[in-house]
Amino acid sequence: MREHAALLDGLGAEVSLVRRPGELAGVDGLVIPGGESTVIDKLSRLFGMQAPIRDAIRDGMPVLGTCAGLIMLADRLVDAIPGQESFGGLDVTVRRNAFGRQVESFEAELAVPALPGGPVRAAFIRGPVVESVGPAASVLASLDDGRVVAVEQDSLLGLSFHPEITGETRFHERFLDTVLAR
Ligand code: GLN
Repeated sequence: MREHAALLDGLGAEVSLVRRPGELAGVDGLVIPGGESTVIDKLSRLFGMQAPIRDAIRDGMPVLGTCAGLIMLADRLVDAIPGQESFGGLDVTVRRNAFGRQVESFEAELAVPALPGGPVRAAFIRGPVVESVGPAASVLASLDDGRVVAVEQDSLLGLSFHPEITGETRFHERFLDTVLAR
């Protein structure tokens, strides 16, 4: 979260942390960071955040989800723990931990035609993969083997990897453009 906040701050955005439902009303966009989707799910329900976030997504609030954040944005999950829920919004099926364990983390150079300025350096840390993309969502990037790792749907942006770790700012700029366009 700290890396996202620093990056957005550097891009001129006013950043605040959203932990309670009341705080959600005060922001124009939301970043759901990496971490552990099972924990994000449990805590969001415990703190009464699930319904407000689902409502905000339905109302078109721009959301950038990275890694566990992508899992939270997916309409359908594979390899979730029993009872695990997502906020949904992206018409995709996402498989958790698709790249294996923490030690199998890797960085890759990704072509992202929708972004100006050449390929993206992406860090994958126990990341999910997008297994299928429904008609409402579109693919922004795939690995060389064809696995989809970045998707977009209206004002939602979901990434399997962590652009904030490699100093990649263009996804955050795209997110902020969506916020400003609303
Ligand atoms: N494996 C984690 C999950 O299922 C995601 C990992 C990450 O966000 N770096 O939530």
